[in-house]
Amino acid sequence: MEDTYKHKGMRKSLLKILKQKGIKDEAVLQAVYKVPRHFFFENAFLEHAYQDKAFPIGEGQTISQPYTVAFQTELLQLKPGEKVLEIGTGSGYQCCILLEMGARVTTIEFNQNLHNKVKVMLPKMGYNPNFILGDGSKGYTANAPYHKIIVTAAAPFVPGVLIKQLVPGGNLVIPVGDQKLQKMLRIIKTENKTLIKEEFDNFSFVPLLGEHGWKDNE
Ligand code: SAM
Repeated sequence: MEDTYKHKGMRKSLLKILKQKGIKDEAVLQAVYKVPRHFFFENAFLEHAYQDKAFPIGEGQTISQPYTVAFQTELLQLKPGEKVLEIGTGSGYQCCILLEMGARVTTIEFNQNLHNKVKVMLPKMGYNPNFILGDGSKGYTANAPYHKIIVTAAAPFVPGVLIKQLVPGGNLVIPVGDQKLQKMLRIIKTENKTLIKEEFDNFSFVPLLGEHGWKDNE
């Protein structure tokens, strides 16, 4: 697949929409400009790639809406070189945005087929995070601690185990609520390890499964 001037033009238009919706961080906007989102779409659905909406990626999962990706990334207050854990690799798009911002990313996915697909696709695009298959509701202790943790699925509560895997001064961005609607939270672990909880807008994610997520029959 190619990344043409037409696609770049469509990304410029997408940036305008993101700015109108309140995204201010220039580094986030630049990352959205750099990552060819249409690479994550089948040919038949290419015209959806630069609309500000989520889209099905198979396995009952979605590629998040560009605004949601930009909003969560802005909340992380990422600096180049920081270690980030992304929980819910999904299509891999959010992961590419984090890598474009200079983060060192571990991304964990529960679904074997999505994990297998992204593990092949992202390196072909020049993106090389650590790909992990497993239950991200428990974090990923082997690479911990992290400066930032981003959860891209709906959690029923904030798993304490994720806070433990943050460095002092780090933060966790996580949507918490029921399976229909969640509030975006940012939990800051201060240098003296006290926690500050901030609440932002409502979003709607697919459920976080696993030990500290939703059980199948809930
Ligand atoms: N970040 C993704 C992107 O850029 O396309 C969007 C993620 S999608 C909204 C949520 C993903 O979380 C799904 O791929 C789902 O399989 C995954 N997921 C759900 N529970 C999980 C868990 N416990 N550990 C890891 N991944 C999980």
